[in-house]
Amino acid sequence: MNYPQIKLKLNREKSLQFRHPWVFSRAIQGNSELTQLKDGVIVDVVDNKGNFLARGYYNSRSNIAIRVLTFDQSEAIDENFFEKKIQAAFERRKSYINKKETTAYRLIFAEGDGLPGLVVDQYKDIFVLQIHTLGMESLKNFVVEALLKLFQPKAIFERSDVNVRKKDGLTTLPKGFLYGSFKKSQVEIREHGLKFLVDFQDGQKTGFFLDQRENRFALQNYVKDKTVLNLFAYSGGFSCYALNFGASNVTSVDISESALKLCAENMKLNGFLPNQHEEITAEAFNYLEQAFLKGQKFDVVIVDPPAFVKNQKKLHNAINAYIRLNEAALKVLNPGGILISSSCSSFVSQEMFKSVLFQAALRVNKEIATDLIVLEQRTQPFDHPLKINFPEGEYLKFFILQKA
Ligand code: SAH
Repeated sequence: MNYPQIKLKLNREKSLQFRHPWVFSRAIQGNSELTQLKDGVIVDVVDNKGNFLARGYYNSRSNIAIRVLTFDQSEAIDENFFEKKIQAAFERRKSYINKKETTAYRLIFAEGDGLPGLVVDQYKDIFVLQIHTLGMESLKNFVVEALLKLFQPKAIFERSDVNVRKKDGLTTLPKGFLYGSFKKSQVEIREHGLKFLVDFQDGQKTGFFLDQRENRFALQNYVKDKTVLNLFAYSGGFSCYALNFGASNVTSVDISESALKLCAENMKLNGFLPNQHEEITAEAFNYLEQAFLKGQKFDVVIVDPPAFVKNQKKLHNAINAYIRLNEAALKVLNPGGILISSSCSSFVSQEMFKSVLFQAALRVNKEIATDLIVLEQRTQPFDHPLKINFPEGEYLKFFILQKA
């Protein structure tokens, strides 16, 4: 197995020795061979003296010129490689998986599982695959073959209809079956014993927000006999958990009508009664403003918006939006009530988000900051592995706070 070599500039090998999976273009020594390389090919990264450091795929159009697939020189990048990697990812998760209660997991979380550019979600016997990079796109067949061999799924569906691909020079946004078929666009899964319909074909992302599974479960200590407002409800994940843990009543708000339709179906599927639940199609900021003007109050408010920050430059605006949103949520919260607030923007750190919540508390009452007590500070679950040597992989912030 002979792969073309890319040489690093002097003293640029440190991060690879830490097993960080990215090589930035500025760390690479330019030469004429490099300009001949096709984007997406597998390359060996060597240090200034020519010693092997890592093997990965190359893309001249990306800031991250190489994404590492292996640090082992004897490992070829072929079907066998993918089989081993996917099997290892499954083994890591095995002891946390409870197939009776939960049938949906993220099987591959990109760099977190050593496969940059690839996401695979398992919804019972349907596997949904998403590819973000040109390099991984060229390896797609290996992924499909490995999944078929290891799991014998009913179907593999591709949801690569994501704009990040364009940054990598990909012009297509493929969506469709790569293997098998399924008569409906929705599959029924279980999560901690609750039932959910997942629209893997037309729903958001790959159909369900698996990353909040354990955070949804964390509602159990806070909602009994309480009134709950679930903002950015999507298909009712948090809403169903709240009712299951004894909430007296839940209001789900989302801007998407189709998401709320699914939310209503999920309510029915779990046997919750219409008088326990209300779905409201509305923009969250508008809804909160109206609720405040009407003097409406809730015991628990859940805020789980989509990522407000898509790049570093817009960070300031996004931070302001998070502050305003949490301020508005606090204003409709009863004294002693619980604010559950999340952010999935990777550009916003835990510390930054804590400061967002502090700013929000300050703004509710201009003289004396509203007291907020952090009851729980949570992050992403085991099936979205957070590697200690890849801090960029940490993206989910989830706070449970009590208003004094
Ligand atoms: N909490 C959900 C996931 C939320 S995803 C779960 O556990 O499954 C974010 C949701 O916010 C999407 O459903 C999207 O339709 C909705 N959304 C985006 N912008 C919005 C806005 N301005 N107002 C209300 N909902 C919005």
